[in-house]
Amino acid sequence: MTHYDYDLFTIGAGSGGVRASRMAGQLGARVAIAESYRIGGTCVIRGCVPKKLLSYAAHYAEDLEDARGYGWTIASASFSWPALIENKNREIARLSRVYSDGLARAGTAVFEGTARLLDAHTVAIGERSVTARNVLIATGGWPSKPAIPGIEHAITSNEAFELPELPRCILIVGGGYVAMEFAGIFRGLGTDVTLSYRGEQILRGFDDDVRRHLHDEMSKKGVRILLKSEVSRIARRADGTLEAALSGCPGNTLTCDAVMFATGRRPNTARLGLAEAGVRLDEAGGVAVDRFCRSSVPHIYAVGDVTHRICLTPVAIREGAAVATTLFGGRETPVDHDDVPSAVFSQPPVGTVGLTEAMAAEKFGKVDVYKASFRPLRHTLSGRDERTLVKLVVDAATQRVVGAHMVGADAPEIIQGVAIAVRAGLTKAQFDATVAIHPTAAEEFVTLMDKTEVR
Ligand SMILES: Cc1cc2nc3c(=O)[nH]c(=O)nc-3n(C[C@H](O)[C@H](O)[C@H](O)COP(=O)(O)OP(=O)(O)OC[C@H]3O[C@@H](n4cnc5c(N)ncnc54)[C@H](O)[C@@H]3O)c2cc1C
Repeated sequence: MTHYDYDLFTIGAGSGGVRASRMAGQLGARVAIAESYRIGGTCVIRGCVPKKLLSYAAHYAEDLEDARGYGWTIASASFSWPALIENKNREIARLSRVYSDGLARAGTAVFEGTARLLDAHTVAIGERSVTARNVLIATGGWPSKPAIPGIEHAITSNEAFELPELPRCILIVGGGYVAMEFAGIFRGLGTDVTLSYRGEQILRGFDDDVRRHLHDEMSKKGVRILLKSEVSRIARRADGTLEAALSGCPGNTLTCDAVMFATGRRPNTARLGLAEAGVRLDEAGGVAVDRFCRSSVPHIYAVGDVTHRICLTPVAIREGAAVATTLFGGRETPVDHDDVPSAVFSQPPVGTVGLTEAMAAEKFGKVDVYKASFRPLRHTLSGRDERTLVKLVVDAATQRVVGAHMVGADAPEIIQGVAIAVRAGLTKAQFDATVAIHPTAAEEFVTLMDKTEVR
């Protein structure tokens, strides 16, 4: 039998790669992992975690204002961007160490450096090369920017986490969740934010009511949203500011301190030696895999954003765990991508699970829709003009709740719980049979009575 240095070599120590490697080690496999930047990957270093910390920071501005309605007088409050970034960096360094320690405890060998395949069983990391019976590609994705003149002046989410100072004004380009989240962060911290998106409405792929509702709420908070708008050029002015040429804006130019592109991410598949090893890519450039995350080469697997399926941390983690179980746990384990809940940590945030109204209508023909838009109790005293949206989408024939959507405070926390019911296939009657917790916004999910039928 051929001898290999390792049973599994993982390229990329992000959410998916770390989970697969740790589990494989715990199951007794000899495992190595390579990381070219920092252990923890996008989620820990420049994604979910730092983003959520910045989002908390941004929310304090409103909390301080809202406190007045509750009798508080706050004499003076000031904000320091460098202090926030320093504290955020300390926390992500701690988390990165937690990930490293977990790998060490599982006996995983860590190679610091950029890895690539020399052939289907050999991985090179710098000058070194090692062999492995199985290889896992978990290299994630990278922000993509269009090739327009002056694009070198623009930043992406990567750099937004490290700006030396808070921009006074920023142009954010994109209509997806990362664009919405950073618009909320910068606006909350006092930056003048313009969002330019070439589509008809923000958050493509989300429920239409959610898209409209969030658009309205963000506009109320002062984010200027330009739809059907495109940026064609960026130039640096003598005073250091940037001038962007964009459609849909008076004068078709905007002067600002920073331009950030949040226009999607591409799978990290370049310079990995994949083609040489016989690994097939799909049209989006991601590693093409089957439901066991196996590529066109049977002992080479891929998980997470590099497969360009559902680009979320918990999904990458599930996929990594499934690969470890398939390879070393004695059980072929597929990953189920149905009813994956997700959130947008915008201001206010969004939580969603299951089908949008449009998707459900296409799938089932007739659907019942229940929705409510209301002023949350908290804002009766704060005086803030913010409304919450809750919505259930029900298959009319079976009465099964096939989608739940919310825009409003704590929506991601609430939808995580509702997602269990949606995934379990519960009916509207079973939602209704659940007694409400009063007074909450979440109680709307069990008290929605007025139905709109949609054919
Ligand atoms: C701004 C932002 C906010 C996000 N917010 C959320 C959120 O709130 N919730 C959520 O679920 N998801 C969120 N995501 C998505 C989430 O971060 C990813 O889905 C998740 O990190 C994917 O994990 P992964 O293991 O596939 O890849 P990654 O975590 O990206 O890890 C890949 C690792 O591979 C390394 N690597 C790449 N090439 C090589 C090589 N050749 N050799 C060695 N190492 C290599 C990289 O340095 C990286 O560390 C966010 C993403 C971004 C950008």
